[in-house]
Amino acid sequence: MTTEKTLAIVLRVVEFSETSCIVTLFTEDFGKIGALAKGARRPKGPFDSALDLLAVCRIVFIDKSADVLDLLTEARLERRFRSASRDLSRLYAGYYIAELLRELTDLGDPHPDLYRRADQTLLTLDLDGPVGETVLGFEVAALRLLGYLPALEACVVCGAPVSGGGRVLFGQLAGGVLCPRCRQGQKQVVSVSPRGLEVLRQLAGARAVGAPGEIDPGVRGELRGLLNHYFTNLLGHPPRMLPFLGAIVNP
Ligand SMILES: [Zn+2]
Repeated sequence: MTTEKTLAIVLRVVEFSETSCIVTLFTEDFGKIGALAKGARRPKGPFDSALDLLAVCRIVFIDKSADVLDLLTEARLERRFRSASRDLSRLYAGYYIAELLRELTDLGDPHPDLYRRADQTLLTLDLDGPVGETVLGFEVAALRLLGYLPALEACVVCGAPVSGGGRVLFGQLAGGVLCPRCRQGQKQVVSVSPRGLEVLRQLAGARAVGAPGEIDPGVRGELRGLLNHYFTNLLGHPPRMLPFLGAIVNP
């Protein structure tokens, strides 16, 4: 049992008792944690309304054993997600980022790179960055940082380089682009436009930071569809925010 300090993004707040909440946080140094916040629901409680969804806080918590909730002892607000009150597409985008962080990471598995990317993404959304592009950039970066990035350069089955001027086959279950020879027997194969693949490769580049440049609405829509399908397979169910992602493509 140790006391730890770190930065955290608030991913979920669930009422636990008349005065307490259970919070799910994505922390910079410890990955995702679940913690009991005693007194969080009391007015003028110890957390002073820092535990708002998507807020960034500096926290102190007591790391309990693996199968027990941690105990949050302090949370000081660094930054609130202000867009929540003024722009629905930004709110949905923020919820979606939180959902992906909750669903794709494990408790106590640190991913400081992903934390910084998520922090930057929420800030960009809050500072009027382009919603569709920012969300796509985060999704692809998260896939890369968590080891789920689909193969984008070479056929996922045989390793042959995949290029050429035309549309490229993409195996949703195989996990990436396919050469025509390896298409046979694959399920859930779709095709990607050359421009769509080019944008995906750019977004997947390790040096791609911040919001990408403007992406043509047609390509944005195409990639939205491709990633909706990919994340549905990865999570084992459609993202809960999926019905709202249309507003993110064309805010
Ligand atoms: Zn192949």
